[in-house]
Amino acid sequence: MKLTILIIDDNSHMRAVINELLADSGHQVLLADGHQQALSFLEQESIDLILMDIEMPHMDGYELTRLIRAQYTKWIPIIFLSGNTSDKALEKGIEAGGDDYLTKPVSQIILNAKISAMARIAAMQNHLDELNRKLQKLSNQDVLTKVLNRRALEDKLKQAWQSYKDDEQTFSLLMIDIDHFKRYNDDYGHPAGDQCLKRFALLLKQNVSRDLDIIARYGGEEFVVVAPGASLAEAQIKADRIITAINQEKIEHNNVSTGYLTASIGIAVSDSNVSHYRELVKRADDALYRAKEQGRNQWQSS
Ligand code: GH3
Ligand code: MG
Ligand code: MG
Ligand code: MG
Repeated sequence: MKLTILIIDDNSHMRAVINELLADSGHQVLLADGHQQALSFLEQESIDLILMDIEMPHMDGYELTRLIRAQYTKWIPIIFLSGNTSDKALEKGIEAGGDDYLTKPVSQIILNAKISAMARIAAMQNHLDELNRKLQKLSNQDVLTKVLNRRALEDKLKQAWQSYKDDEQTFSLLMIDIDHFKRYNDDYGHPAGDQCLKRFALLLKQNVSRDLDIIARYGGEEFVVVAPGASLAEAQIKADRIITAINQEKIEHNNVSTGYLTASIGIAVSDSNVSHYRELVKRADDALYRAKEQGRNQWQSS
């Protein structure tokens, strides 16, 4: 595996010597004469491994290592290359956050072998990070419709509520429920119902703000849109768009008066009358109930 290795040493001769030891390895080597250059490389490049001198002016290798560990959550292997052969110096290096400690002069074979061992661990670490990212995404996603699930919605609502409390950032909540969906399942079968839910989620995605609005499946045939920054009037426009879109979609549903699938929406907005986001959900739900009562295929706001 080809790595990008950062050599940090204040001594230009030493930098050249270490660079030479790595010459046949095929790795890309970057040279830094101290903490400033090192930190700017770390900002600009994707560094796989660091070879770190200890005695350097301004900031020594221990301190620089501690700084790097504090600043970067991603683990980058750090191998010390020091003239100090004492056990204490090695102990201090590992304590500072280093992963290995070699003394100068170092043999080419040992240096490259140590680098290979570190690269192996780093590759495993990257693989784990990737799996974790995927898992994180999956645990927030509704399996069927691929929008956020109820659990993720709860987090988003908490965040939106916090922004409202802290910065008076208003947000709107739309509770959306497909009309007579039980009948749809009864008439067309559960698999067709599932396809319908997917199609409906897609339609929601296409009719809210892609960058801002949060779409989640609240459960069953109910979805929630959280619209940060949206006033009541703006939320009503969104609801209008969704109602119009599902009407234009013309998904056949022969067991209802319209002949097509429709949905109803309840809207609530964060304002001084609401003291908790769960209350907001309740208000949207009440408004939804009214929309159902007044004939479905429409929105109502609290
Ligand atoms: P209303 O207009 O009053 O909302 O009537 P409704 O029939 O839509 O409401 P109800 O709550 O009686 O029924 C909801 C139906 O949604 C019942 C259930 O079978 C169906 N449903 C819930 N989750 C799923 C799912 O994941 N897939 C399918 N195919 N159907 C689902
Ligand atoms: Mg030095
Ligand atoms: Mg329902
Ligand atoms: Mg329903």
